[in-house]
Amino acid sequence: MSDLRELYQEFILDHHKNPRNFGPLEGANRTSEGYNPLCGDRVTIYLLVEGDRISDIGFEGSGCAICTASTSVMSEMLKGKTVAEAEDLFGKFHELVTGPPDEVPCTDGLGKLAVFFGVREFPVRVKCATLAWHTLKAALRDGKTVTTE
Ligand code: ZN
Repeated sequence: MSDLRELYQEFILDHHKNPRNFGPLEGANRTSEGYNPLCGDRVTIYLLVEGDRISDIGFEGSGCAICTASTSVMSEMLKGKTVAEAEDLFGKFHELVTGPPDEVPCTDGLGKLAVFFGVREFPVRVKCATLAWHTLKAALRDGKTVTTE
């Protein structure tokens, strides 16, 4: 468990310092802003959706390490995925971060997102970890602002 915890911290710090796909996306056709008042996290998601596929993704914002890292990993994972696959992944990720801390998480198909299982020990951080996903969903749906309350 301590190895995993170390990995989790290293991984999150790495993505926090060097977020992937950071910056506005030129040619984006969907965008949405998210705000988590509990922590002060703000994120804007830019998507280029072609047909039912997310061809490209970018984001901007200022948030805590968990928020930024979660958005960064999400952007990596979702590039090239279909909207249905993205929604499926959101469901799995949500279960991962909100499950009981004493249960072994199911990480099938989550890839790098599995590292966020540590968040379930800190319920106040769940909104930090899921803000990007809620914002993504809003962008896919109608491109409006979302607040996680
Ligand atoms: Zn946060």
